[in-house]
Amino acid sequence: MSTKYSVPRGFRDFPPEVALFRRRIMELIEEVFERYGFDPIETPVIEYWETLKGKYGEEVESKLLYRFQDPWSEEWLALRYDLTVPLARFVASHAPTLPFKRYHIGRVWRHERPQKGRYREFWQCDADIVGSPYPEADAEVVDLVCDVMKTLGYSGFKVRLNDRRLLKGVFEEELNLSRYGEGKILEVFRVIDKLEKIGREGVEGELLKAGLSRHEAEKIMEAVDVSGNPEKTLSELESRFRGNRNVEAAVGHLQELIAASSHREDITLDLSMVRGLDYYTGPIFEVYVEEPKIGALAGGGRYDDLIERYGGPSTPSTGVSIGLERIIDAGLELGLFNLKRKTCTQVFTVSMGEKYWSYARSVAREMRREGLRVQVDLMRRNYRKQLEYCEKKGIRAIAFVGEKEASTGTVTLYFREEKKRYEQTPLKDAIQILKREAQ
Ligand code: AMP
Repeated sequence: MSTKYSVPRGFRDFPPEVALFRRRIMELIEEVFERYGFDPIETPVIEYWETLKGKYGEEVESKLLYRFQDPWSEEWLALRYDLTVPLARFVASHAPTLPFKRYHIGRVWRHERPQKGRYREFWQCDADIVGSPYPEADAEVVDLVCDVMKTLGYSGFKVRLNDRRLLKGVFEEELNLSRYGEGKILEVFRVIDKLEKIGREGVEGELLKAGLSRHEAEKIMEAVDVSGNPEKTLSELESRFRGNRNVEAAVGHLQELIAASSHREDITLDLSMVRGLDYYTGPIFEVYVEEPKIGALAGGGRYDDLIERYGGPSTPSTGVSIGLERIIDAGLELGLFNLKRKTCTQVFTVSMGEKYWSYARSVAREMRREGLRVQVDLMRRNYRKQLEYCEKKGIRAIAFVGEKEASTGTVTLYFREEKKRYEQTPLKDAIQILKREAQ
């Protein structure tokens, strides 16, 4: 194998058996999205740098975004970093009817350090509701992702819920962080977001580096320690910070969200979960499993100001992004999926000799016309070699054609795993059998 022609670090090839399996998972996710009334859109993988600039935060811009200058036009371009910012641009320029419920499954690129569950090219499955400011829209997004998890066979997962306004209110009340200037709270959120990556001490260290005092850093750590049963924790916060505009707005919104959700039992409140991206304005959430430790499988939240920044009218929006690779990697470790299917071919027409090549092709043609997925030998191989190929590829059914079949307009069907034979079966009947038994 040549390393010279390998793929870049953090990027991968997918052979057919993996590509087929991934596609199946995407189809299952898509089915749930469509059940909730989301329609697909597509946007380009490349955006103008101007479009992405200033939306994610300093670290993303300086280190994680793939940015390059087009050598012909000399324009600055970037590979999309997520699917939410392109959606905001899309909505501002297309002004769709609201609420606009769109889903988008596609690849995104981040120049991160590759490790378990972290790639440089990966797929996100996003569903967003554009236009509704109400908690029932956030609840629908949470329910949607819980349904996806259940559909894929996950059971012991948790939705960690928070609201950007909760911490903002607590910080205002206890620390007066706004005296450091507008951007300080966002900077603090970005530091807290690293809690899982760098631990408590790491976070405290970074808070000090960001110019906060030790007392302030300690108070912040105390605040993010709050977690537990959502109803109970919210009413505690409400009475502790009575009169604080941000806390009251967040508590009211989250209480309604929880009341509207059909997956209340999967939700915990967790003030340490802040989400790394700058554009969130209200409720935020992430989906986790206890094992394996792979980070969030999905994350989302409300971003009420983003679309306006592209020149559209004020358009409150909320959504979720499911990380396909983590869903798959964790599911494989948990034994939720099997990788048995190696091909989408249902049947191979094996000809017993040169004289039957043309009949084999006409059988394949007829089967394809009836919607079956069929291969016919294109390598002029003897029947043994054709059978070896079917075995290696895991093709379930074989349609033998030889002297008797060609002269009577029949095929002899054979199902490899079941070792079941249907001798010289008229083609029409064989097609019905295949439709029934070779899915
Ligand atoms: P984010 O846009 O950062 O909120 O990410 C949404 C989801 O994408 C996360 O919950 C992860 O499941 C997934 N994700 C984020 N970064 C990566 C990565 N580098 N590799 C694979 N999946 C990722």
